[in-house]
Amino acid sequence: MSNRVIKLSASEIKQLAAHYQAYFLDKKIPYTSFVAKKNGLTITAYTSGKVMFQGNNAEAEANKWQSTTSTSTGAKTSSSTTLPAGFSQKSIIGSDEVGNGSYFGPLIVCAVYAETSVLPTLKSLGVKDSKMLTDPQIRQLAPEIKKQVPFQLLTVTPEKYNQIQPTYNAVRMKVALHNQAIQLLLQKIAPEQPEGILIDQFTSEANYRKYLRSEKTQVTEQLYFITKGEQYHLAVAAASILCRAQFLEELEQASKEVGLTLPSGAGNKSDQIAARLLEKGGLELLSKYAKLHFANTEKAKKIAKKQ
Ligand code: MN
Repeated sequence: MSNRVIKLSASEIKQLAAHYQAYFLDKKIPYTSFVAKKNGLTITAYTSGKVMFQGNNAEAEANKWQSTTSTSTGAKTSSSTTLPAGFSQKSIIGSDEVGNGSYFGPLIVCAVYAETSVLPTLKSLGVKDSKMLTDPQIRQLAPEIKKQVPFQLLTVTPEKYNQIQPTYNAVRMKVALHNQAIQLLLQKIAPEQPEGILIDQFTSEANYRKYLRSEKTQVTEQLYFITKGEQYHLAVAAASILCRAQFLEELEQASKEVGLTLPSGAGNKSDQIAARLLEKGGLELLSKYAKLHFANTEKAKKIAKKQ
């Protein structure tokens, strides 16, 4: 069973409590402010501010709160959460990631350098929040973006992910990847330097910098963190499109290789397909295509047993 623990402030715990109120369990457990159970997911909020998500879609649900957290705690822990005036028109490196919430497929990080002069072109190509674009639009747009801007894509295959996940939690892994992508891109564009680096925020700045310290080489200067980063600079929007396009590409490749359509996301469909992979080649085969620590693995085992 997958579980995730995140830390929230007192005011965020209040929001969380309000959100899950209808699902509260009617028992008192020491050191908890509440326990809620919703669709196979158990949410335990401890008085320490730690919140544990356990069971169905634990990862995805925890992520929802983690990103809200980042915005609200970010303001307290850092001075750079507010972007400088005119930021959207500056020459910026933007970075984003995709695949973190999908059971099948890799984790992809991309950094893009978009100078002031290329921004109108990106805009006219239709670069915007990738969530507002369809998958076919994204795949059409990606090669056009690649012609216009320097970029660095990094991929962690599920196989590699499963090897490092026990020691690197998802946040630490993403910090390492963003840092590496940014660093490689800085080398590509040298001696030119961006006016800032905007990371689509997935954890608090303090947390990012904490994990950054365990990296061999670190980009620490001119970093800005903001959630929905694609709304603040086209470099992040372009990065998120390149990530998604790459993710779709690799998922399609993997599907061909294994002869089954591997879905993105982490829903019931993923359990069913995973069960078929288990029947076909056991955990060894599944580990090549799926992020095993997700709750889907256990569900797939149960389905496979029944058949
Ligand atoms: Mn993002």
